[in-house]
Amino acid sequence: MDYEALFQAELDGLKTEGRYRIFAELERKAGNFPQAKRFDGEGGETGTQDVTVWCSNDYLGMGQHPDVLGAMHETLDRCGAGAGGTRNISGTTHSHVVLERELADLHGKQAALLFTSGYVSNWAALSTLASKLPGCVVLSDAGNHASMIEGIRHSRAKCLKWAHNDVADLDRLLASLPADVPKLVAFESVYSMDGDIAPIAEILDTCEKYGAMSYLDEVHAVGLYGPRGGGIAEREGLMDRVTVIEGTLGKAFGVMGGYIAGSHAMCDFVRSFASGFIFTTALPPALAAGATASIKHLKASSVEREAHQERVAKVRRRLNAIGIPMMDNPSHIIPVMVGDPHHCKMISDWLLDTHGIYVQPINYPTVPKGTERLRITPSPVHTDGDVDRLVSALSEIWSQCALARVSMAA
Ligand code: PMP
Repeated sequence: MDYEALFQAELDGLKTEGRYRIFAELERKAGNFPQAKRFDGEGGETGTQDVTVWCSNDYLGMGQHPDVLGAMHETLDRCGAGAGGTRNISGTTHSHVVLERELADLHGKQAALLFTSGYVSNWAALSTLASKLPGCVVLSDAGNHASMIEGIRHSRAKCLKWAHNDVADLDRLLASLPADVPKLVAFESVYSMDGDIAPIAEILDTCEKYGAMSYLDEVHAVGLYGPRGGGIAEREGLMDRVTVIEGTLGKAFGVMGGYIAGSHAMCDFVRSFASGFIFTTALPPALAAGATASIKHLKASSVEREAHQERVAKVRRRLNAIGIPMMDNPSHIIPVMVGDPHHCKMISDWLLDTHGIYVQPINYPTVPKGTERLRITPSPVHTDGDVDRLVSALSEIWSQCALARVSMAA
């Protein structure tokens, strides 16, 4: 069997469809985000280019914040590099415990549980809750992230998919289930690619009507929304009604890691049964300390959140004024719609090569075919000059390629 040829045939299929992924090789500039150095792939100092990053999930620039860097340096010097073990076997350090307390407090919950990423937290928590509660049925929003889908799949529990953000459909499905089976309703607050926001209050009303647990992924909202950065559920005064709040430390908090927050019993249940928690090395203590510093800062300061919203509104307004087609949404994510994977890649390459502007093309299966897009994520550290350069570069390529413009309501 020629395995190399089998691998190559699959990869060639992706290339033909225009969705073979090419990663830009970057080096972020400490203290100067969103500026970065891009390597040309050959390695070495000669083949580099200065670029402005417009597609980072370090939404607030916290990955460069002095409080975060200071805490990481200090903890690295004090405790060394790794945690040295799984949480169960010597890897639970003081930094992990402090961070879990901070996270529980952020969400007004009794407890929180850390994982090595948001992906792992969704995968491990959902697969455990759904498989270890006898007879549990999962009701999953059709727009849920791959990490949630994989976790639910792995549980082998019965799963019913409800139409995206459609509370009536959720109600219909819940009504079809026996009253005495455990039910888990899984959804997100801010959806990462369209930037739309779930009707959380109505979903929780429906969960409560049928005695279902709620599982809310706030990965694209924590740090960014709510008076203390607790997410959309905090902003809407709903945190106490959500059974499990899941989040990441790798986006607005600027570091890495994932977590769930909820009751003592729920967190203890996942801690005790989830293989994705038990059988893997704990996060390095320096990462945990950096995340704690970031959360503490954003609990006390709304400056970054307000500046972020101002930047997002400005970029949206400017792109709107020149007719660049965007998906309308109430969040910080700006999907510039292209609708073709080859065009999307061409625009992205041209922005990078000609203007030093980096926006990764987003293709199927991350988004449905025909809705390929550039996902632009402004941050408070993008300057007016950065915004001017982005807008004029997009205007230029839209004209050069005779791409359709739209007029959106102001
Ligand atoms: N949930 C959602 C909705 C996401 O978009 C992502 C990552 N893009 C994750 C979970 C995983 O988070 P992490 O990057 O921390 O693994």
